[in-house]
Amino acid sequence: MTENNYIAINTLQHYIFCPHQWGLMEIEQQWCENIFVVLGNLVHEKVDKPFLTENRNGLHISRSLPVYSHKYKIQGVCDVVEFIKNKKGAYIKQLEDNYIIKVVEYKRGKPKEFNQVNYADSIQLTAQMLCINEMFNINCEGFVYYASIGRRCKLNNFNELTNVVFNIVEEMTKFLQNNTVPPITNTSRCNGCSFKEICIPNAKTKLPFNSLIKHSWEEQFEKTT
Ligand code: SF4
Repeated sequence: MTENNYIAINTLQHYIFCPHQWGLMEIEQQWCENIFVVLGNLVHEKVDKPFLTENRNGLHISRSLPVYSHKYKIQGVCDVVEFIKNKKGAYIKQLEDNYIIKVVEYKRGKPKEFNQVNYADSIQLTAQMLCINEMFNINCEGFVYYASIGRRCKLNNFNELTNVVFNIVEEMTKFLQNNTVPPITNTSRCNGCSFKEICIPNAKTKLPFNSLIKHSWEEQFEKTT
């Protein structure tokens, strides 16, 4: 596997929402947008300015920073990465000083509960943090900024979620290597799905989802929350 076919971090959320939806996009190259997707894109427009950086009083902010992890075979773009000068932080060669690092992902929605980062958001943020830790040899902190409440929520269960990310990426890689779209799930999520019109979940036979694959990461995630 080369860097060119590492799993894209922004596709993890599609797989978590519905593996079949992810397969339609990534394997069959189909794409549908609904109002929820459009609103999400608008939030990201504010931060998607590649390589834009700011410096003020020991705070260095990188926006749309490309990241990767060779260990986890993932790659993506972090909305915002803050480097804060701090003697207790790690030495960052590119900035020639010691810094702590905060990764911030922007989302249009609101947290599931006060101060608790949502399921798919947690996984996406964990994947980004794994990349930053590997790239800068550091233990970073991670936050999700929820536009609807106008504040950040901190991710508190990073260590536990690393295994969840590993298992999800492993599953996605197997589907990609086999060129196989995961089966239809036909759950309540279908009502808000942008692929409902082309997937037509009720008109097709619901295939038994491979229980080993399904539960390997879902049960693990439940234990960490
Ligand atoms: S309509 Fe339902 S089964 Fe089909 S892709 Fe969307 S969520 Fe998955």
